Amino acid sequence: MTTVTHGFLDDPVFGIVSDVASSLGVRAYVIGGYVRDCFLGRPNDDIDIVVEGSGIALAGAVAQRTSGKVTVFKNFGTAMLRHKGKELEFVGARKESYHRESRKPVVEDGTLEEDQLRRDFTINAMAFSLQKEDYGALVDPFGGIRDLSEGIIRTPLDPDTTYSDDPLRMLRAIRFATRLSEEGHPFTIVPESLDSMRRNRDRLAILSKERIVEELDKILLTSRPSMGFRLMDETGLLELILPALSRLKGVETVDGKGHKENFSHTLQVVDNVASAEAAQGLEPNLWLRWAALLHDIGKPSSKRFVPGSGWTFHGHEVIGARMVPGIFQQLKMPLNEKMKYVQKLVGLHLRPIALVDEEVTDSAVRRLLFDAGDDIDDLMLLCNADITSKNPAKVSRIRANLELVKRKLVEVEEKDAIRNFKNPITGEYVMELFGIPPGKEIGILKEYVKEAILEGEIGNNFEEADALMRKRAAELGLVPVK
Ligand code: ATP
Ligand code: MG
Repeated sequence: MTTVTHGFLDDPVFGIVSDVASSLGVRAYVIGGYVRDCFLGRPNDDIDIVVEGSGIALAGAVAQRTSGKVTVFKNFGTAMLRHKGKELEFVGARKESYHRESRKPVVEDGTLEEDQLRRDFTINAMAFSLQKEDYGALVDPFGGIRDLSEGIIRTPLDPDTTYSDDPLRMLRAIRFATRLSEEGHPFTIVPESLDSMRRNRDRLAILSKERIVEELDKILLTSRPSMGFRLMDETGLLELILPALSRLKGVETVDGKGHKENFSHTLQVVDNVASAEAAQGLEPNLWLRWAALLHDIGKPSSKRFVPGSGWTFHGHEVIGARMVPGIFQQLKMPLNEKMKYVQKLVGLHLRPIALVDEEVTDSAVRRLLFDAGDDIDDLMLLCNADITSKNPAKVSRIRANLELVKRKLVEVEEKDAIRNFKNPITGEYVMELFGIPPGKEIGILKEYVKEAILEGEIGNNFEEADALMRKRAAELGLVPVK
């Protein structure tokens, strides 16, 4: 029986592709993510078109009709065309076979059916016909539509073959389960698939780190990343990908005292960041989510049991910040300002709370502003997300204190403008004033001024800074030359 769908191919571009394919005498189908998302009612502007014939030739002919420009990826045999906000990717239907050492298949031309067989999941293997005679007919050989409505992720072929051929699919399964799951409609990976992932986890070794991180990023950017990380953990993938995160698992007990389960806590914090961003109408900030994921990464190596008082993780934020570059490097992630941002947030994540535990003095607030700079709002968001206590009284107390810090931050910033602190005294000014070459005095004087400003001894302005600097310079034996 053929199900002909209505409404999904209304966009005129599908009619154009259909006409052009028919005039070239080739069969073309919309396939994959676009079809899936139509049924899920999720907007998707990426359209994959599979052709029994040359994808590149069809793309070229369509481009002539739409006066568009084609980008050809010769190595992949694909061509991309943009049209009115949609991105169309054309590919010839293919049959694949794999070598053990690589996830790059040997590719031959094939039929639609053969092409569907090589796709990762039943829900990603559905196609809409673009042929005149059955325009919009759903071609769904593996029951993708049923799996979609039941929220099931399963492979068309034997999972061992699917995952061993291309182990990236294990992470894709987890990513789709995480992304597609919604309140009231969860997606689960079938048990045979999960078992197969456990068996095939060593196959991850053939993947490039970049592809793995791409999937991690996509999982982190979902509305509930914890689900993906739990699945990675349950299948043994996490241990291979991010061992430092796996090490947060478990609770040790001494003298009947256990500590917080840091893995669950961490995942909760990542989810909290995601919900807070959504609630505040912010775009998902990938690097803030990485910071949340890694914020307690230093806990295992800082863990101590102090008889009589219990567990401490003293200095874990410092250890954690030091671990960040190594983790980024190991995953071949950028070692640029993004890494520094994550490192900074991990290193500072206790500061706002520590501040309220003592007393919210102006100088402590100025120092926090100085250290966090423009990332202060992100730090405060992370700090709020870090509150996962089950004790409501404790939670509301900490939240109230953080609000106090926030108000203080605004107040102090308005007064002293520390956020983008620029020392009013520059090195050039000092050298010219005293007629001295570069040397350690300059650092000493600038540091002295900075400290005085942060401590609130002088205001953040040139006049006061200059006067103070001249006084200190005199003590060092420096005399102005003019
Ligand atoms: P997204 O919305 O994330 O782009 P998508 O389903 O479109 O989801 P893509 O990565 O764009 O995912 O891939 C397009 C289609 O190509 C998939 O729906 C699937 O049919 C197929 N596909 C992609 N990657 C693989 C893979 N590694 N193995 C098998 N099939 C794949
Ligand atoms: Mg896509």
